[in-house]
Amino acid sequence: MSNIQDVKQQAYALAEQNIGLYNHICDEIFRHPELGNEEYYSSKFLVEEMEKRGFRVQYPYGGLDTAFRCEIGSGSPKVAFLAEYDALPGYGPERNQNGHACGHNWIAACTFGAADVLAQLTEHFEGTIVYIGTPAEEGTGGKVDLVNAGCFEDIDAAFQMHLTSGGTQLNGSSLAIDSLEFTFEGKAAHAAGKPWDGINALDAAYLMINGINALRQHVTPDTRIHGIIEDGGAAPNIVPAHSVYKVFCRAADRDYLNTVTQKVINCAKGAELMTGAKMSYRFYENSFDNLNCHPALVELMAQNLDAIGYTTYDKSKQPPSGSTDLGNVSRVVPTCYVSLDVENTDGSACHNEAFLQHVNSEQAYVANLRAVKAMAATALDVLMNAEVREAIRK
Ligand SMILES: [Zn+2]
Ligand SMILES: [Zn+2]
Repeated sequence: MSNIQDVKQQAYALAEQNIGLYNHICDEIFRHPELGNEEYYSSKFLVEEMEKRGFRVQYPYGGLDTAFRCEIGSGSPKVAFLAEYDALPGYGPERNQNGHACGHNWIAACTFGAADVLAQLTEHFEGTIVYIGTPAEEGTGGKVDLVNAGCFEDIDAAFQMHLTSGGTQLNGSSLAIDSLEFTFEGKAAHAAGKPWDGINALDAAYLMINGINALRQHVTPDTRIHGIIEDGGAAPNIVPAHSVYKVFCRAADRDYLNTVTQKVINCAKGAELMTGAKMSYRFYENSFDNLNCHPALVELMAQNLDAIGYTTYDKSKQPPSGSTDLGNVSRVVPTCYVSLDVENTDGSACHNEAFLQHVNSEQAYVANLRAVKAMAATALDVLMNAEVREAIRK
Protein backbone atom coordinates (compact mmCIF):
# COMPACT_ATOMS: atom_id res chain seq x y z
CA MET A 1 0.00 0.00 0.00
CA SER A 2 1.13 3.53 -0.76
CA ASN A 3 2.55 5.84 1.86
CA ILE A 4 -0.33 7.82 3.36
CA GLN A 5 1.61 11.09 3.51
CA ASP A 6 2.41 10.85 -0.21
CA VAL A 7 -1.24 10.21 -1.00
CA LYS A 8 -2.28 13.22 1.10
CA GLN A 9 0.15 15.39 -0.89
CA GLN A 10 -1.48 14.14 -4.09
CA ALA A 11 -4.90 14.94 -2.61
CA TYR A 12 -3.84 18.54 -1.87
CA ALA A 13 -2.55 18.94 -5.44
CA LEU A 14 -5.79 17.55 -6.89
CA ALA A 15 -7.82 19.90 -4.67
CA GLU A 16 -5.87 22.88 -6.00
CA GLN A 17 -6.16 21.71 -9.63
CA ASN A 18 -9.93 21.25 -9.38
CA ILE A 19 -10.95 24.06 -7.02
CA GLY A 20 -12.39 26.01 -9.97
CA LEU A 21 -15.02 23.28 -10.45
CA TYR A 22 -15.78 23.12 -6.70
CA ASN A 23 -16.22 26.92 -6.55
CA HIS A 24 -18.48 26.73 -9.61
CA ILE A 25 -20.65 24.22 -7.72
CA CYS A 26 -20.79 26.60 -4.74
CA ASP A 27 -21.87 29.42 -7.09
CA GLU A 28 -24.39 27.41 -9.12
CA ILE A 29 -26.29 26.16 -6.05
CA PHE A 30 -26.13 29.67 -4.54
CA ARG A 31 -27.83 31.08 -7.66
CA HIS A 32 -30.67 28.53 -7.49
CA PRO A 33 -31.89 28.69 -3.89
CA GLU A 34 -34.59 26.07 -3.32
CA LEU A 35 -36.45 25.23 -0.11
CA GLY A 36 -36.19 21.85 1.61
CA ASN A 37 -37.65 18.86 -0.27
CA GLU A 38 -38.00 21.11 -3.35
CA GLU A 39 -34.30 21.05 -4.28
CA TYR A 40 -35.00 19.57 -7.72
CA TYR A 41 -32.60 21.77 -9.70
CA SER A 42 -29.79 21.53 -7.14
CA SER A 43 -29.95 17.76 -6.63
CA LYS A 44 -30.14 17.10 -10.41
CA PHE A 45 -27.21 19.44 -11.05
CA LEU A 46 -25.04 17.73 -8.40
CA VAL A 47 -25.92 14.24 -9.63
CA GLU A 48 -25.10 15.15 -13.25
CA GLU A 49 -21.74 16.60 -12.22
CA MET A 50 -20.99 13.42 -10.25
CA GLU A 51 -21.88 11.27 -13.25
CA LYS A 52 -19.43 13.29 -15.36
CA ARG A 53 -16.76 12.50 -12.75
CA GLY A 54 -17.41 8.75 -13.07
CA PHE A 55 -19.54 8.14 -9.97
CA ARG A 56 -22.38 5.57 -9.94
CA VAL A 57 -25.65 7.28 -9.05
CA GLN A 58 -28.86 6.39 -7.16
CA TYR A 59 -31.37 9.23 -7.57
CA PRO A 60 -33.85 9.61 -6.00
CA TYR A 61 -32.62 7.78 -2.92
CA GLY A 62 -33.93 6.49 0.43
CA GLY A 63 -37.54 7.36 -0.40
CA LEU A 64 -36.84 11.10 -0.82
CA ASP A 65 -37.27 12.79 -4.23
CA THR A 66 -34.31 15.13 -3.83
CA ALA A 67 -31.90 12.78 -2.02
CA PHE A 68 -29.16 10.92 -3.89
CA ARG A 69 -26.22 8.61 -3.38
CA CYS A 70 -23.14 8.65 -5.64
CA GLU A 71 -20.36 6.10 -5.24
CA ILE A 72 -16.97 5.25 -6.66
CA GLY A 73 -14.58 2.45 -5.73
CA SER A 74 -15.63 -0.87 -4.24
CA GLY A 75 -16.13 -2.70 -0.96
CA SER A 76 -15.21 -1.57 2.53
CA PRO A 77 -14.26 0.67 4.21
CA LYS A 78 -16.77 3.27 3.06
CA VAL A 79 -16.45 6.98 3.81
CA ALA A 80 -19.38 9.32 3.16
CA PHE A 81 -19.46 13.06 2.50
CA LEU A 82 -22.87 14.54 3.29
CA ALA A 83 -24.10 17.33 1.04
CA GLU A 84 -26.88 19.76 1.92
CA TYR A 85 -28.43 22.16 -0.62
CA ASP A 86 -31.65 23.54 0.87
CA ALA A 87 -32.13 27.30 1.21
CA LEU A 88 -34.15 29.46 3.63
CA PRO A 89 -37.23 31.59 2.89
CA GLY A 90 -37.86 35.26 3.63
CA TYR A 91 -35.03 37.31 2.11
CA GLY A 92 -34.87 40.23 -0.33
CA PRO A 93 -36.66 43.60 -0.13
CA GLU A 94 -40.10 41.97 -0.28
CA ARG A 95 -39.10 39.17 2.11
CA ASN A 96 -40.37 36.72 -0.46
CA GLN A 97 -37.14 35.30 -1.86
CA ASN A 98 -35.26 32.18 -0.93
CA GLY A 99 -31.61 32.55 -0.01
CA HIS A 100 -28.63 30.44 1.01
CA ALA A 101 -28.19 32.38 4.26
CA CYS A 102 -27.03 29.16 5.96
CA GLY A 103 -24.49 28.47 3.22
CA HIS A 104 -25.68 24.99 2.28
CA ASN A 105 -24.51 25.76 -1.27
CA TRP A 106 -20.99 25.77 0.20
CA ILE A 107 -21.62 22.46 2.02
CA ALA A 108 -22.66 20.87 -1.29
CA ALA A 109 -19.45 22.16 -2.90
CA CYS A 110 -16.82 21.19 -0.32
CA THR A 111 -18.27 17.72 0.24
CA PHE A 112 -18.39 17.25 -3.56
CA GLY A 113 -14.74 18.33 -3.74
CA ALA A 114 -13.54 15.95 -1.03
CA ALA A 115 -15.37 13.01 -2.67
CA ASP A 116 -14.04 13.97 -6.12
CA VAL A 117 -10.43 14.29 -4.96
CA LEU A 118 -10.51 10.83 -3.36
CA ALA A 119 -12.20 9.39 -6.46
CA GLN A 120 -8.99 10.17 -8.36
CA LEU A 121 -6.83 8.32 -5.81
CA THR A 122 -8.65 4.97 -5.54
CA GLU A 123 -5.61 3.03 -6.81
CA HIS A 124 -4.00 3.74 -3.40
CA PHE A 125 -6.62 2.13 -1.13
CA GLU A 126 -9.40 -0.41 -0.81
CA GLY A 127 -12.86 0.97 -0.25
CA THR A 128 -15.67 3.16 -1.49
CA ILE A 129 -16.14 6.93 -1.64
CA VAL A 130 -19.77 7.93 -1.12
CA TYR A 131 -21.37 11.33 -1.73
CA ILE A 132 -24.85 11.48 -0.18
CA GLY A 133 -27.33 14.26 -0.91
CA THR A 134 -29.40 14.96 2.21
CA PRO A 135 -32.43 17.25 1.67
CA ALA A 136 -34.26 19.68 3.93
CA GLU A 137 -31.85 20.10 6.86
CA GLU A 138 -33.71 23.32 7.70
CA GLY A 139 -37.11 21.62 7.72
CA THR A 140 -38.16 18.02 7.93
CA GLY A 141 -34.59 16.76 8.36
CA GLY A 142 -33.99 14.39 5.45
CA LYS A 143 -31.09 12.70 7.23
CA VAL A 144 -33.53 11.27 9.76
CA ASP A 145 -35.49 9.57 6.96
CA LEU A 146 -32.24 8.33 5.40
CA VAL A 147 -31.00 6.94 8.74
CA ASN A 148 -34.37 5.24 9.30
CA ALA A 149 -34.22 3.76 5.77
CA GLY A 150 -30.85 2.17 6.65
CA CYS A 151 -28.86 4.35 4.21
CA PHE A 152 -25.93 4.70 6.63
CA GLU A 153 -25.68 1.09 7.78
CA ASP A 154 -22.67 0.33 5.55
CA ILE A 155 -20.82 3.62 6.20
CA ASP A 156 -17.64 3.64 8.35
CA ALA A 157 -17.28 7.42 8.78
CA ALA A 158 -19.31 10.47 7.77
CA PHE A 159 -17.93 13.93 7.04
CA GLN A 160 -19.43 17.39 6.76
CA MET A 161 -18.39 21.00 7.19
CA HIS A 162 -20.52 24.15 7.62
CA LEU A 163 -19.51 27.79 7.28
CA THR A 164 -19.67 29.85 10.45
CA SER A 165 -18.52 33.19 11.85
CA GLY A 166 -16.53 33.97 14.98
CA GLY A 167 -14.16 31.00 15.07
CA THR A 168 -13.69 27.48 13.73
CA GLN A 169 -15.03 24.64 15.90
CA LEU A 170 -14.08 20.99 15.42
CA ASN A 171 -16.17 19.53 18.24
CA GLY A 172 -19.60 21.11 18.09
CA SER A 173 -22.74 19.61 19.56
CA SER A 174 -26.45 20.20 19.17
CA LEU A 175 -29.65 19.66 21.09
CA ALA A 176 -31.89 16.67 20.51
CA ILE A 177 -35.39 17.86 19.64
CA ASP A 178 -38.96 16.53 19.59
CA SER A 179 -41.67 18.53 17.79
CA LEU A 180 -45.11 17.78 19.22
CA GLU A 181 -48.62 18.90 18.35
CA PHE A 182 -51.32 18.50 21.03
CA THR A 183 -55.00 18.74 20.13
CA PHE A 184 -57.80 19.11 22.70
CA GLU A 185 -61.40 18.42 21.68
CA GLY A 186 -64.01 20.01 23.97
CA LYS A 187 -67.63 21.02 23.46
CA ALA A 188 -68.97 24.36 22.21
CA ALA A 189 -71.64 26.21 24.18
CA HIS A 190 -72.80 29.81 24.65
CA ALA A 191 -70.01 31.26 26.76
CA ALA A 192 -72.40 33.46 28.81
CA GLY A 193 -75.80 31.82 28.30
CA LYS A 194 -75.02 28.18 29.08
CA PRO A 195 -71.28 27.83 29.80
CA TRP A 196 -72.02 24.81 32.05
CA ASP A 197 -72.90 22.89 28.88
CA GLY A 198 -69.44 23.46 27.39
CA ILE A 199 -66.07 21.75 27.68
CA ASN A 200 -63.29 24.32 27.32
CA ALA A 201 -60.50 23.09 25.04
CA LEU A 202 -58.54 26.36 25.42
CA ASP A 203 -58.46 25.94 29.21
CA ALA A 204 -57.00 22.50 28.62
CA ALA A 205 -54.16 24.03 26.58
CA TYR A 206 -53.58 26.66 29.34
CA LEU A 207 -53.49 24.00 32.04
CA MET A 208 -51.02 21.98 30.00
CA ILE A 209 -48.78 25.05 29.62
CA ASN A 210 -49.04 25.72 33.37
CA GLY A 211 -48.00 22.15 33.98
CA ILE A 212 -44.97 22.64 31.72
CA ASN A 213 -44.07 25.87 33.54
CA ALA A 214 -44.12 23.98 36.85
CA LEU A 215 -41.91 21.34 35.26
CA ARG A 216 -39.22 23.86 34.23
CA GLN A 217 -37.69 24.04 37.71
CA HIS A 218 -37.13 20.29 37.68
CA VAL A 219 -35.37 19.71 34.38
CA THR A 220 -31.67 20.15 33.64
CA PRO A 221 -30.51 23.64 32.54
CA ASP A 222 -29.88 22.52 28.94
CA THR A 223 -33.58 21.68 28.51
CA ARG A 224 -35.67 23.99 26.30
CA ILE A 225 -39.48 23.78 26.06
CA HIS A 226 -41.08 26.41 23.84
CA GLY A 227 -44.40 26.47 22.03
CA ILE A 228 -47.34 28.34 20.54
CA ILE A 229 -51.12 28.06 20.74
CA GLU A 230 -52.00 27.62 17.10
CA ASP A 231 -55.76 27.34 17.60
CA GLY A 232 -57.49 28.76 20.66
CA GLY A 233 -61.15 28.69 19.67
CA ALA A 234 -63.48 30.41 17.24
CA ALA A 235 -64.96 33.46 19.07
CA PRO A 236 -65.07 34.80 22.66
CA ASN A 237 -68.78 34.11 22.99
CA ILE A 238 -68.35 30.41 22.24
CA VAL A 239 -66.71 28.02 24.73
CA PRO A 240 -63.68 26.85 22.70
CA ALA A 241 -64.43 23.39 21.35
CA HIS A 242 -61.00 22.90 19.84
CA SER A 243 -57.42 23.94 20.62
CA VAL A 244 -54.00 23.10 19.26
CA TYR A 245 -50.73 23.61 21.13
CA LYS A 246 -47.45 23.08 19.26
CA VAL A 247 -44.29 22.69 21.30
CA PHE A 248 -40.59 21.95 20.76
CA CYS A 249 -38.82 20.00 23.53
CA ARG A 250 -35.02 20.03 23.43
CA ALA A 251 -32.16 18.74 25.58
CA ALA A 252 -28.48 17.97 25.21
CA ASP A 253 -28.98 14.21 25.36
CA ARG A 254 -31.54 12.09 23.47
CA ASP A 255 -32.13 9.62 26.30
CA TYR A 256 -32.78 12.44 28.79
CA LEU A 257 -35.01 14.25 26.28
CA ASN A 258 -37.16 11.12 26.01
CA THR A 259 -37.95 11.44 29.73
CA VAL A 260 -38.69 15.19 29.40
CA THR A 261 -41.00 14.64 26.42
CA GLN A 262 -42.88 11.97 28.38
CA LYS A 263 -43.39 14.48 31.24
CA VAL A 264 -44.74 17.04 28.76
CA ILE A 265 -47.17 14.42 27.44
CA ASN A 266 -48.19 13.75 31.05
CA CYS A 267 -48.99 17.48 31.46
CA ALA A 268 -51.38 17.10 28.51
CA LYS A 269 -52.95 14.00 30.09
CA GLY A 270 -53.47 15.94 33.31
CA ALA A 271 -55.12 18.80 31.43
CA GLU A 272 -57.43 16.30 29.71
CA LEU A 273 -58.44 14.85 33.08
CA MET A 274 -59.02 18.28 34.63
CA THR A 275 -61.18 19.64 31.80
CA GLY A 276 -62.70 16.61 30.12
CA ALA A 277 -61.38 17.86 26.75
CA LYS A 278 -60.19 14.82 24.83
CA MET A 279 -56.45 15.01 24.11
CA SER A 280 -54.48 13.56 21.22
CA TYR A 281 -50.92 14.26 20.12
CA ARG A 282 -48.47 13.52 17.34
CA PHE A 283 -44.81 14.13 16.52
CA TYR A 284 -45.38 16.44 13.56
CA GLU A 285 -41.76 16.71 12.37
CA ASN A 286 -38.85 14.31 12.53
CA SER A 287 -37.23 14.07 15.96
CA PHE A 288 -33.51 14.92 15.90
CA ASP A 289 -30.86 13.35 18.10
CA ASN A 290 -28.04 15.38 19.65
CA LEU A 291 -24.85 15.70 17.61
CA ASN A 292 -21.68 14.07 18.89
CA CYS A 293 -18.46 14.44 16.91
CA HIS A 294 -16.29 11.33 17.24
CA PRO A 295 -13.27 12.29 19.41
CA ALA A 296 -10.79 10.28 17.31
CA LEU A 297 -11.99 12.03 14.14
CA VAL A 298 -11.79 15.43 15.88
CA GLU A 299 -8.14 14.71 16.72
CA LEU A 300 -7.30 13.57 13.17
CA MET A 301 -9.07 16.60 11.67
CA ALA A 302 -7.00 18.88 13.93
CA GLN A 303 -3.78 17.22 12.72
CA ASN A 304 -4.82 17.53 9.09
CA LEU A 305 -5.73 21.21 9.48
CA ASP A 306 -2.32 21.77 11.08
CA ALA A 307 -0.73 20.02 8.09
CA ILE A 308 -2.21 22.55 5.66
CA GLY A 309 -1.10 25.43 7.88
CA TYR A 310 -4.49 26.25 9.39
CA THR A 311 -4.18 26.27 13.16
CA THR A 312 -6.78 28.82 14.36
CA TYR A 313 -9.42 26.33 15.49
CA ASP A 314 -10.93 25.24 18.77
CA LYS A 315 -11.17 21.48 19.27
CA SER A 316 -12.68 21.53 22.76
CA LYS A 317 -16.18 20.15 23.24
CA GLN A 318 -18.68 22.94 22.60
CA PRO A 319 -21.97 23.45 24.46
CA PRO A 320 -24.95 22.57 22.27
CA SER A 321 -26.74 25.22 20.29
CA GLY A 322 -29.68 24.61 17.98
CA SER A 323 -30.57 21.24 16.54
CA THR A 324 -29.54 19.43 13.36
CA ASP A 325 -30.49 16.20 11.63
CA LEU A 326 -26.77 15.37 11.48
CA GLY A 327 -27.28 14.35 15.13
CA ASN A 328 -29.17 11.26 13.97
CA VAL A 329 -26.29 10.34 11.66
CA SER A 330 -23.79 10.78 14.51
CA ARG A 331 -25.77 8.28 16.59
CA VAL A 332 -25.24 5.51 14.02
CA VAL A 333 -21.97 6.45 12.25
CA PRO A 334 -18.69 7.98 13.56
CA THR A 335 -19.12 11.58 12.42
CA CYS A 336 -16.69 14.40 11.73
CA TYR A 337 -18.34 17.83 11.58
CA VAL A 338 -16.49 21.12 11.40
CA SER A 339 -17.87 24.66 11.61
CA LEU A 340 -15.31 26.53 9.49
CA ASP A 341 -14.94 30.27 9.98
CA VAL A 342 -15.57 32.30 6.80
CA GLU A 343 -13.69 35.17 8.51
CA ASN A 344 -16.29 37.84 7.84
CA THR A 345 -15.82 41.12 9.73
CA ASP A 346 -19.36 42.56 9.69
CA GLY A 347 -20.62 40.58 12.68
CA SER A 348 -23.24 38.72 10.67
CA ALA A 349 -24.00 35.04 11.27
CA CYS A 350 -25.90 32.16 9.64
CA HIS A 351 -29.54 33.00 8.79
CA ASN A 352 -28.83 36.79 8.83
CA GLU A 353 -29.54 38.43 5.47
CA ALA A 354 -26.04 39.96 5.58
CA PHE A 355 -24.52 36.46 5.72
CA LEU A 356 -25.76 35.82 2.16
CA GLN A 357 -22.85 37.84 0.78
CA HIS A 358 -20.29 35.62 2.57
CA VAL A 359 -21.36 32.12 1.54
CA ASN A 360 -20.32 32.52 -2.12
CA SER A 361 -17.46 35.00 -1.64
CA GLU A 362 -13.70 34.92 -2.20
CA GLN A 363 -13.38 34.03 1.50
CA ALA A 364 -15.89 31.20 1.06
CA TYR A 365 -13.70 29.91 -1.78
CA VAL A 366 -10.59 30.05 0.42
CA ALA A 367 -12.55 28.06 3.03
CA ASN A 368 -13.74 25.66 0.28
CA LEU A 369 -10.16 24.68 -0.58
CA ARG A 370 -9.29 24.23 3.11
CA ALA A 371 -12.39 22.10 3.64
CA VAL A 372 -11.74 19.88 0.63
CA LYS A 373 -8.12 19.25 1.64
CA ALA A 374 -8.83 18.62 5.33
CA MET A 375 -11.83 16.34 4.76
CA ALA A 376 -10.04 14.36 2.05
CA ALA A 377 -6.97 13.92 4.26
CA THR A 378 -9.01 12.82 7.30
CA ALA A 379 -10.96 10.38 5.14
CA LEU A 380 -7.63 8.99 3.89
CA ASP A 381 -6.70 8.31 7.53
CA VAL A 382 -9.85 6.20 7.79
CA LEU A 383 -9.41 4.49 4.41
CA MET A 384 -5.69 3.70 4.74
CA ASN A 385 -5.19 3.06 8.46
CA ALA A 386 -6.80 0.00 10.07
CA GLU A 387 -5.90 1.32 13.56
CA VAL A 388 -7.95 4.44 12.91
CA ARG A 389 -10.91 2.31 11.82
CA GLU A 390 -10.57 0.26 14.99
CA ALA A 391 -10.45 3.44 17.10
CA ILE A 392 -13.56 4.98 15.58
CA ARG A 393 -15.56 1.77 15.85
CA LYS A 394 -15.41 2.09 19.64
ZN1 LIG B 1 -29.46 26.88 9.08
ZN1 LIG C 1 -27.04 25.15 8.04
